[in-house]
Amino acid sequence: MSVTGNIERTEEKIQRACEASGRKREEITLLGVSKFHGREAVEEAWRGGIRCFGESRVQEGAEKFSGFRETHPGFALHMIGTLQRNKVKAAFSLFDCIQSVDRDDLIRELGKHREKPERPLELLLELHTGEESKSGFPGLEDLYRALDLILAYPCLSVRGLMTMAPFTQDRGLIRSSFRQLKTAQRELEKRFPSDGRTSWACISMGMSNDFETAIEEGSTLLRIGTAIFGERLP
Ligand SMILES: *Cc1c(COP(=O)(O)O)cnc(C)c1O
Repeated sequence: MSVTGNIERTEEKIQRACEASGRKREEITLLGVSKFHGREAVEEAWRGGIRCFGESRVQEGAEKFSGFRETHPGFALHMIGTLQRNKVKAAFSLFDCIQSVDRDDLIRELGKHREKPERPLELLLELHTGEESKSGFPGLEDLYRALDLILAYPCLSVRGLMTMAPFTQDRGLIRSSFRQLKTAQRELEKRFPSDGRTSWACISMGMSNDFETAIEEGSTLLRIGTAIFGERLP
C-alpha cells in the first residue's frame, strides 16, 4: 500500500469513528508520525493532505525537515519523544510544539531558551496512564506543579495533554488510559482556566492500533505512524 492509499483508508476510519461517536471531523488533527521514514515518504504524506508531523528524535527531525518549512506553508512539526536537556536548544528552533513534556527539569531547561519570543513555544504535558510506558508525569499533583513552573516562564505556553495507552489488545485498558487523560483535563481546566498562555483544548491520544477508541474518548490529535507510513525498519 502506498502512503496515499494508507492515508485514505485511515481517513475513512477516522470519519466512521467520528460519526459513531457524534463528533465533528474538524475537531481532530491527524498528525503523521514520520520517525524512521525518509523525506520521500514525508513528501507523499504532504501531498496526501498531512500538514502536521511528529518526530521522536531532534537530530533525525532536523535532517529530514531541513528547508522543508520554507517550501511547505502550513507545515507544523511536533516533538513526541523523550527530549534530552542538551537537545533543548535545537528543539526550540525546530519544533512548533513539544508534546512529551514529562518532568520539571525539562521545563526549567526549556524556560531558559527564549527570553522574548514573538510567540511562546507550545507544550503538551504528558501524563503516564499506561502500565509499561515509563514516560509522563505520574499524577495530577505533578501536573499542577508543572503548570505553576511553566507559568513562571513567559517563553512557554501550554496547549493541552498527551498520553500513550498501554500496548495491548485489551480495549478496556486502553479506554481507561484515555479516560484518565480526559479526567485530568477537566481537573486542570478548573484549577487553571484557559487564558492567553494556558489552554487545555488539545488532547493528544490515539496511535495506529487504538485511534478509534481515542476518538470515542475525546481525542483532538491523533499521532499515527505505522498506519500511514507502514512498518518502521530498524
Ligand atoms: C511512534 C509513536 C507514535 C506512532 O505509533 P504508531 O503505532 O506507529 O502509530 C505515536 N506516539 C508516540 C509518542 C510515538 O513514539
